[in-house]
Amino acid sequence: MSRFWSQTTKNIKPYVPGEQPKDRKYIKLNTNENPYPPSPRVLEAIRLAADETLRLYPDPSGDTLRDAIASPFGLARENVYIGNGSDELLAFCFPAFFEPEGLPILFADITYSFYPVYAQLFRIPYRLAPLDAQFNLSVEDYLQENGGILIANPNAPTGMGVPLESIEKILRYNENNVVVLDEAYVDFGGESSVGLIARFPNLLVVRTLSKSYSLAGLRVGFALGGKELIEGIIRVKDSVNSYTVDRLAQAGAREAIRDDAYFQEIKSKIVRTRNRVASRLENFGFRVLPSQANFLFVSHPQTPARILFQKLREQGILVRFFDKPGIDNFLRVSIGTDGEMDLFLKAVARICENEAL
Ligand code: PMP
Repeated sequence: MSRFWSQTTKNIKPYVPGEQPKDRKYIKLNTNENPYPPSPRVLEAIRLAADETLRLYPDPSGDTLRDAIASPFGLARENVYIGNGSDELLAFCFPAFFEPEGLPILFADITYSFYPVYAQLFRIPYRLAPLDAQFNLSVEDYLQENGGILIANPNAPTGMGVPLESIEKILRYNENNVVVLDEAYVDFGGESSVGLIARFPNLLVVRTLSKSYSLAGLRVGFALGGKELIEGIIRVKDSVNSYTVDRLAQAGAREAIRDDAYFQEIKSKIVRTRNRVASRLENFGFRVLPSQANFLFVSHPQTPARILFQKLREQGILVRFFDKPGIDNFLRVSIGTDGEMDLFLKAVARICENEAL
């Protein structure tokens, strides 16, 4: 605590990203990064951009990248905005669409843990909607008075999807409130709501290039929605920093989106590995939640998650453990390469056997 801090800074509990220890080489299955490199075309585009134009500010409205994103969705530039990672766009949603003195916004009790941090930072009141015992969202919770809604679909850290018909019901009931759908993981098998944008001006879909495009290091996310919502985001962006997405990021991201063949190949590879690892873990007796993402959320009936987490770490394998009621016997395991996952499976089998003795 410092006497120089504002009340907000004193009260806030900042988000804690997955650890990145430097003491040895780890197999990193703890931050849902993509184990494969980005398209070679991305690197070439970044090299060119660096050679030619780094002394100039980037395009403050990111028009060519926005066009590249809009076109495969059949949307227009005015329906797209870009951000320094989707985290930035999610943060901008709070001052853009939610009221500090208004009704509480709604999000799940188990979901992306950045949402309550933004709510505290921007002093937006919020209410948690509990997931049921199977980690499903209850649509009825969102058919009540509220100041706005945030849903991660597929959810994190469970990986479970919300059916489109439920999303549609929620959008129809909340026509006067903004519903933000965080589709960070949708490319790995979720049902996207982008097709609903034309009918629902209250819908904003937020995506990222960090996972399915192997570009976590470039920091690019995008938001899709009606013109009014996109303009709201831009107003906030232009009140913070005109150039949140730098030249290299705009050039690299554009090429990643254009190289659809590479994107499809990497995505299918991860889904195949995920499904194989899920059935192996089930054979070991794990409860494995049905995942539509690039990670698995798993729990073992005998070996506590905390022990598994520690023992895996000792063996150089990092996974994510959340010390939170309701999920503190689960591990979130990002999908790595087949080789990495085989080492993970071997280590898990060994630990579970030893614990059972
Ligand atoms: N939403 C969810 C649900 C996430 O898990 C993440 C990754 N931590 C993000 C958004 C943010 O991704 P990025 O800022 O890298 O685009």
